Amino acid sequence: MSIISNDSVDRPIGLTAHSGIDRMAHHRLDEAWLSAAWSHPTTRVFVVSGGQVLIDDTPDGRTELVMTPAFEAPVTETHRYFLGTDTDGVSYFALQKDSLPGRMDQSARPAGLREAGLLLSPRDAGLMVHAVALENWQRLHRFCSRCGERTVIAAAGHVRRCQACGAEHYPRTDPAVIMLVTDEEDRALLGRQVHWPEGRFSTLAGFVEPGESIEQSVAREVFEEAGVTVGEVEYVASQPWPFPSSLMLGFMARATSSEINVDGEEIHEARWFSREDLTAAFESGEVLPPYGISIASRLIELWYGKPLPKPGDVT
Ligand SMILES: [Zn+2]
Repeated sequence: MSIISNDSVDRPIGLTAHSGIDRMAHHRLDEAWLSAAWSHPTTRVFVVSGGQVLIDDTPDGRTELVMTPAFEAPVTETHRYFLGTDTDGVSYFALQKDSLPGRMDQSARPAGLREAGLLLSPRDAGLMVHAVALENWQRLHRFCSRCGERTVIAAAGHVRRCQACGAEHYPRTDPAVIMLVTDEEDRALLGRQVHWPEGRFSTLAGFVEPGESIEQSVAREVFEEAGVTVGEVEYVASQPWPFPSSLMLGFMARATSSEINVDGEEIHEARWFSREDLTAAFESGEVLPPYGISIASRLIELWYGKPLPKPGDVT
């Protein structure tokens, strides 16, 4: 089993590539250091608002996060996140704002992670996913879960502190599992969610519940959604998934039964595909190739043995 890594594929995996940023968590409480970093001329700042940032196309065909020196940034002292420093010593901050700044040039445009995650460099995608995850958490945790009073931002965006009871709240991450199930004939189980368009099939997925292991969660979700029992479960890779606060844990799972019985609530339809079945279904247009930042497509590729066709490649 090859494990997903930056080197094993010919294009970046959405949100999983290493950003090259050192988060430098030990500086988050050091206001003097943070002030000096903020004021440094090489420091770069971008605004995050409602899960979106500004991105721009470069003349040489890349797409970048739009960043400015700190002195040009719309300063919001209370909603400033320190994201880390790169190997050249450049520090990066994100500002949480209620709206994105005016576009600096014609081609700059707002984008969420599902779009930008496919276009940005690993560094920029890593900065963006960090900022979006913090923003989601900051916006949803303005009140203390212990006493109900207001909390304030601390630790350069990585803590919220209750001024009434002193509780410190840390960003939460909710584990979710995503798995490609194969049977003894090495066919893959793909499902179509109720709200997906006709022909779109992908891996099954679901949230880890309190009090269960991730292996139990894989087996429970597969049985709940498709009625298939699962034995051996092998971890492949994880992916930040801040929609709003998940960590997606990717697995290959081996079925111990083959009869499908979909729940009809989350999964409308599920089918076993051989590689030949799937190739034919892509070619006929019966099945749409999964595409996007999710590691679902990479799990399927691991089994399929070659890159999946992109949506434009099939008629
Ligand atoms: Zn409190």
